[in-house]
Amino acid sequence: MHSAIDNLGPEHLQTDLWQSTYSLAGEAYVHAIVEWLARHLRAQRVMVARAIDLPVTRVRVVASTQRHAPDSFALAGTPCELVYRGQRLVQTSGLGQTFPQLCDTGSDSFHGYPFLDDQGQCYGHLAMFFADSTTLPDWFDTLLEPITARLGAELLHMEQQTRLEAAERQLALHNRVLRLTTQHTPLKQVLDTLLNGIEIDHPGTLCSIMALDRTGRFLRLLSAPSLPAAYLAAIDGVEIGPEIGSCGAAAYRRQRVIVNDTLQHPYWAASRELALRFELHSCWSQPILSGDRVLGVFAIYHHLPSVAGANDFAMIEHVSDLVCQVLLHHETMEALRLKSEHYQMLLRHGADGTVVLDREGRFLEISEGFLKQICAEGPEAIMATRIWDWSANLEPSDILKILQSHHDQPLIFQTAMRHVDGSLWDAEITATAVEIDGQSLIWASARDITERKKLEAALLREARLDSLTGVANRGNFLQALQKEVTRARRYPQPLSVLMLDLDHFKNVNDQYGHSTGDDVLRTLCRESAPLLRKEDLMGRLGGEEFAIMLPHTGVEEAAEAARRLLARILDMSVQVPEVHDRIHFSCSIGVASLAPEDADGERLLARADKALYQAKAAGRGCVKVL
Ligand code: GH3
Ligand code: MG
Ligand code: MG
Repeated sequence: MHSAIDNLGPEHLQTDLWQSTYSLAGEAYVHAIVEWLARHLRAQRVMVARAIDLPVTRVRVVASTQRHAPDSFALAGTPCELVYRGQRLVQTSGLGQTFPQLCDTGSDSFHGYPFLDDQGQCYGHLAMFFADSTTLPDWFDTLLEPITARLGAELLHMEQQTRLEAAERQLALHNRVLRLTTQHTPLKQVLDTLLNGIEIDHPGTLCSIMALDRTGRFLRLLSAPSLPAAYLAAIDGVEIGPEIGSCGAAAYRRQRVIVNDTLQHPYWAASRELALRFELHSCWSQPILSGDRVLGVFAIYHHLPSVAGANDFAMIEHVSDLVCQVLLHHETMEALRLKSEHYQMLLRHGADGTVVLDREGRFLEISEGFLKQICAEGPEAIMATRIWDWSANLEPSDILKILQSHHDQPLIFQTAMRHVDGSLWDAEITATAVEIDGQSLIWASARDITERKKLEAALLREARLDSLTGVANRGNFLQALQKEVTRARRYPQPLSVLMLDLDHFKNVNDQYGHSTGDDVLRTLCRESAPLLRKEDLMGRLGGEEFAIMLPHTGVEEAAEAARRLLARILDMSVQVPEVHDRIHFSCSIGVASLAPEDADGERLLARADKALYQAKAAGRGCVKVL
C-alpha cells in the first residue's frame, strides 16, 4: 500500500489548486478538478457524476479522466451505489473481489464522496479509482472538503441550468403543438411533432400515441415517429385487456402501467418475442383520460430496462394532458366538419332551393337547388346580384320590408320568380330570421310550385265551367248574375237576361243519337260566343237550357240581341256521322230585364223563363219579351 501524495506538502498543493482553478466555474471547474486530482493523486480514473432521477438508479457522468467514458451508467453493482446512500466510501484494496463488475478495469482501490442536499439526500458524487492499494493522508481531507463542497454547488447550479433549459424547451414544444392544433394541421403531424420533440429532449426514448377506437376495445396507432414499422404493424389494433402489454393494460385499467423490464413483467408474457425482436426492454404507458373517458395511451419505450423516476412521471403526465387537449380539439373539429358536411348535403340534394341573405338582400349562401331552380350554371355571377333581381312581381322596397321586419315565425308566401333567361316560375317562399354569430340574417327556402299552380288553375276552371260546352255552369252563372244584379241596382244600370231552350231536342237525340245531340250543344255554345260582348256571360242551366246575361243592356237592346242570336243559331248545323248530311236546329228565347220588383237574380231568371215558355207556346223558333 502507498500514499498517493507522499512527495507533496499541503501548502504546495493548496497553492497549486488555487492557481489551477481560481478563474473557473461550472463544467470547466469540474473538469479542472478531476484532472487536478488525477494528476496529483496519480489516480487511475477520477470522475464526477450526478443523479439522473429519484430514486437514483442511473447517474450521468459530468466529468471523467477516462477516455470514451459512457454518458451515464447504472449504479447497481458498483461501489458508487453505496456512496448514494449518503456515506463517503473508501476501499483501499481488493476492489475487484468486492465488485466483480470492476474486475477487468484494473482498479484495486476506490475513494467515493457524496454530494448531499439539505435533506441529506445524495444527488452526485466524486469517485477516484486507483490501480494499487491506496490510502490518502488525513490532512488531505481538509483540502478535499472544500473541493467536494464547491463541486456539489457547481453541480446543483448546472442542474438548475439544465432544468431551466429543459423547461424552456418543453414550453416551446407545448406552444408549437398548440399552435399547430389551432392551425388545423393534420392530427398525425401534430402528434409526430410532439413525440419528436420529446425524443430529442430525452435521448434513448421512443414514444407512441394510440387512440381507443369507437368500440372502446381496440387501440389504433396515431403517431410513433421512431418505433420500427414492423413493430407498429404488430401492435396496431391490439385489443385492450387487464394484462395486455403496457398500453393495452393502461387503457383497460385507466391507470399508468410502468414496465421497467419487458422480459420479466407478466403483462408482457405474450409479447416477449416481440420485445426481444425489436429490443424494446421497457415500456411506460399512461392512459389519456378526459374525465372518465379513455381517449388513448401515451407510451415511452427504451432499448434498455429502465426505471421511471419522478421527473419521468411529471413529463409523462404533462404530455398526456397536452395530448388530451389536442385529441379533444380534433374530435370537436371533426364533429363540426361532419355536421357541416351533412348540412351541405341537405342543401345540395334537397328539392327546395335554399339561400342565406343579409338584411340588405345580398346573398351569403346559395344552394345548388336554388341554382337549379333559376337555371344558373354556378353561384359566382349570382352572388353579385340581389334577391329582387330574381323576383318577377315584387319591388325591391317590398322585399326589403320583408327582409327587415323582425318576424318570430317563418314567413310563408307565394310569388313569381325569374329564371336566368327571364322566363317565370312560381315559388312558395319560406323566410326565417336567424341569428348567426351575432348577425341577423334571413334563411329562405324556395319551392317551385309552377306545376302545382297550373293544376290548381285547371281544377278551378273545371269547377266553374260546364265540362261539355265550356260555358259557365249553373252555380257559376247564378253567382255572377247575382253580383251583376247588385251592381246594376247600385249604379243603377239596366240588366237583361235571355233564356234559351232548344226546340224538340229529344227528336235530335232520338233520330241521330246522343253524341250528335252533344255536338249540337257544343256547336251552339261555340258559335254563339262571337256574338257576345266581353262583359256578357253564357251559362248552361241544365240539359239543353241556357241563359245569357247582358249587363248594361235594356230590354229593347236585349230583344234585338236575342233575335240576332236566333238568326245565327238557325244558320248553325252539325255533321251527323255516317250520314253525309248536316242537320240544323232551332231554339226558343225568352227575354227579361231587371225590374224593381225582382228580388234577386233568380227572380229575373224566372221571368225570362216565363217569356221562354211563351215563345214555346207561340210555336217555337221565336223570341218573346216579358
Ligand atoms: P221542347 O223543348 O221543344 O219542348 O222539346 P224538347 O224535346 O227539347 O223537350 P224536353 O225539354 O222535354 O227534352 C229535352 C231533352 O234534351 C231530353 C234529353 O234527352 C235531352 N238532353 C238533355 N241534356 C242532354 C245532353 O247533355 N246531351 C244530349 N244529347 N241530350 C240532352
Ligand atoms: Mg228543355
Ligand atoms: Mg227543349
